[in-house]
Amino acid sequence: MSVEQNLTEINTRISKACELAGRNTGEVELIAVSKTWPAEHVQKAIDAGQNVFGENKLQEGQEKIPVLSEGLEWHYIGGLQRNKVRKVLGLFHVIHSIDSLKLAKYTNNVAGDMELNPSVLLQVNIGDEASKGGFSAEELEGCFSDLLELKNLKITGLMCIPPAVSASEDARVWFKKVADLRDQLEKSNDCKLPHLSMGMSSDFETAIAEGATYIRVGTSIFGKR
Ligand SMILES: *Cc1c(COP(=O)(O)O)cnc(C)c1O
Repeated sequence: MSVEQNLTEINTRISKACELAGRNTGEVELIAVSKTWPAEHVQKAIDAGQNVFGENKLQEGQEKIPVLSEGLEWHYIGGLQRNKVRKVLGLFHVIHSIDSLKLAKYTNNVAGDMELNPSVLLQVNIGDEASKGGFSAEELEGCFSDLLELKNLKITGLMCIPPAVSASEDARVWFKKVADLRDQLEKSNDCKLPHLSMGMSSDFETAIAEGATYIRVGTSIFGKR
């Protein structure tokens, strides 16, 4: 199937999942994850009307973002090292992968320098996996008030990559844990965290059922990497 057909199908599945969950389709933003694909392939999705994209490496963003149309929205979804922060802030509109208080403080300082107020999400290592980055739930509850002090960052929500499961339905418990953590943080800090970035090609419908507002879909749009 073509990228255009894939996008049509994904958007239909998003609408159905929203309907089943009693949510408006407009509450869920599809982020087309274009990592590893060249600009020409990404252009097919743009031609089909997609305008929100995700990349997980600075270098790929540097190659693609300047040559593709202006007016697209680019989300940085990969691990973020300090030495990349300045360039990532200069290119991307939303960062999903703030994974420690230290990185948040550093990003806040750089954003101040650059006179930017970036939207960021906090990555949660919801399965406490050694192989993955992110705040543990306890850590996040412990330092959340410090994070809210970082005035140059607009903290809009939480992001997760849950433990690998064999069936989409098995991811539900992890998505639910992230949504519950969000509710808890909102309550104890009297703040709003509207976004939940969760769900990929294999499980985005389950994520939508549990409240995802950003789904990050690569393979089902662009093909196997
Ligand atoms: C690659 C990637 C995705 C997309 O995964 P697919 O299975 O190809 O849909 C989503 N989120 C992150 C953080 C990724 O690195």
